[in-house]
Amino acid sequence: MQKPLLSIIIPVYNEEDNILPLWNELKETLTELPPAEVIFVDDGSRDKSREILRGIAEKDIRIKVIFFQKNSGQTAALGAGVHYAKGEVIVPMDSDLENDPADIKRLLKKMDEGFDVVSGWRRKRWANQRFVRKIPSVIASLMISKITGVPLHDHGCTIKAYKSDIIKQIDFLGEIHRFISVYASWYGATVVEIEVNHRPRIHGVSKYGFGRVPKVVLDLLVAKFMMKYSTKPIHFFGMLGFFSFLFGGLSFLLATFLRFYAHVSYIQTPLLLLTALLFMAGLQFISIGLIADMILRTRGSGYQTYRIKEVINGEVDTVSK
Ligand code: UDP
Ligand code: MG
Repeated sequence: MQKPLLSIIIPVYNEEDNILPLWNELKETLTELPPAEVIFVDDGSRDKSREILRGIAEKDIRIKVIFFQKNSGQTAALGAGVHYAKGEVIVPMDSDLENDPADIKRLLKKMDEGFDVVSGWRRKRWANQRFVRKIPSVIASLMISKITGVPLHDHGCTIKAYKSDIIKQIDFLGEIHRFISVYASWYGATVVEIEVNHRPRIHGVSKYGFGRVPKVVLDLLVAKFMMKYSTKPIHFFGMLGFFSFLFGGLSFLLATFLRFYAHVSYIQTPLLLLTALLFMAGLQFISIGLIADMILRTRGSGYQTYRIKEVINGEVDTVSK
């Protein structure tokens, strides 16, 4: 097999009715693309997905399948795919037929203009839907764009093209799959957006419910925190501690002022109690910051988020990050 220039990564979790139609479409598209490998990452499916993947991988050497021991989430699945990918360009996409394989060619064409990341924008996604369905997703993308400083209309879109050396630098921890282009941009990549096709899911069900909303907000918080303080947590906690001490001191001064100029005794107001509380909090914050910094400096951030049982059509390096 030729060295692949392109790696297409497809996480699969209980998508038995989607895999074959997707592979048939993709096979057609591959004829128009540079030499490619297709890496399916089975994220612990419990339906017939595993057998179906095994079946297609036996017939086509371009397909690699990574089977996880158990469901580890879309981020971990993407991370495993990226780790094993050999292509110079990496294109992740969903396995539920919502993304259109025909868009890959257009993403690559845009990349040729000199961008490191070309992000999909499912502009017509809400075309036939009620307006209220559109609002949360628009707000989410606006909020993410504002907070991260990476302006995209559709942060949640999975089909994107990444230069391999950029995406391989990313730590696939937590549920960061919606923020890969954000991290890439923070690492210095040029990011651009093009419109892509979107088709509603026909077979199977979405793996996420409304519960994803607060999780996305928390992941965003982590992303922002990581970007600013990952190498210096003491600055974050230390500042909290500093302000606690400052307000504790002010509270004490105010109590003292009242004591001597207004003859209000120390115990007539809660100010002294507040001082004690703020001093304690300040001490706690600074200690937490010191511990975080010490751990970081002595241990680094190596953490294994998935374990692989088997790899088809590829080398087995079963323990990775
Ligand atoms: N997926 C996965 N592991 C999970 C959840 C989802 O590999 O724990 C895959 C899923 O099979 C699909 C993609 O991630 O290919 C996106 O999931 P889904 O369609 O449920 O998300 P939605 O489109 O509703 O945002
Ligand atoms: Mg989907």
